[in-house]
Amino acid sequence: NRPLLQVKNLQTGFKIEGDYYNAVERVSFDVKRKQIVGVVGESGCGKSVMSLSIMQLLPEGIGKIRGGEIEFEGEDISKLSDKRMNDIRGKDISMIFQEPMTSLNPVFTIGYQIEEVILNHENLTKKEARLRSVSLLKQVGIPRAEKIVTEYPHQLSGGMRQRVMIAMAIACQPKLLIADEPTTALDVTVQAQILELLKGIQEANDMSIILITHDLGVVAEICDEVLVMYAGKIVERAPVEELFAAPKHPYTELLMKAIPKMDEEIETLATIEGLVPSVINMPQVGCRFANRCPKAMPECTTVTPQLGDVGHEHEVACLLFDESWPSDKKKVRDRE
Ligand code: SF4
Ligand code: MG
Repeated sequence: NRPLLQVKNLQTGFKIEGDYYNAVERVSFDVKRKQIVGVVGESGCGKSVMSLSIMQLLPEGIGKIRGGEIEFEGEDISKLSDKRMNDIRGKDISMIFQEPMTSLNPVFTIGYQIEEVILNHENLTKKEARLRSVSLLKQVGIPRAEKIVTEYPHQLSGGMRQRVMIAMAIACQPKLLIADEPTTALDVTVQAQILELLKGIQEANDMSIILITHDLGVVAEICDEVLVMYAGKIVERAPVEELFAAPKHPYTELLMKAIPKMDEEIETLATIEGLVPSVINMPQVGCRFANRCPKAMPECTTVTPQLGDVGHEHEVACLLFDESWPSDKKKVRDRE
């Protein structure tokens, strides 16, 4: 029973002043059928670059897949022609983004835009496509769908526009939906509704989802498995309950503290000091989190931690959990 998607050793580079720098560095993970995988990290950690790599929507001439494979149903889609990839995009794999206003065209009606996706991939009449778009809008919880198809994006609220984007994304019943910060621009109540909607659609359509977010709270709501990314690498991976019960990586611990709490004043939020190193200043050896890590040891800048198994389907890339680490150093961990 092969996973739906297998990303193997993906390396994606960006060209800066003639040289390529990897924004995604040897990332490997699977997405099983019907699974929701959360990808968490601050902005600049490579989450979006990773998803644009899967979709082959990297900015042309700037972003480039430089190594690895992206197998979708056993086929390496990272090497497909533009034409084949166009067939797959929107039909087998689709994507929604943070700001629906930039993905929706302001001059066309909602119905026209959904129907364009459908007619692109399926041999239907305009009338059939209209019926489908109305039923899709109903499926994503939009009231008065027959009327909304004739309206323009600016006539809807942000939450409703995101529902329209979801309707477009699922119009051809894709097997995989990539949702990049789908609720970040929305207020908290609408956020919860959209997450609930995604979960419902995932179940109804037997779809898999990659949910990209900077907010671990969002992950807790609907994900089965979580990948934590830092500076282009996966630093921790675990089933969601396991991650929340026993976070291991110091970066994950800090992300946990940064989860916004409804009953807290914004001032009391824990934030993580410092910045993700930029791709041009990435340390070539050692842990990429070392300059911000509250638990860093001198060795962290000279030894590169590898993602290793710590049991319970849990993997972490940190020297504190590295079994090959000399035993006197391990005491640091045991004392904790
Ligand atoms: Fe911190 Fe060192 Fe672990 Fe990196 S390897 S997360 S710097 S303790
Ligand atoms: Mg992003």
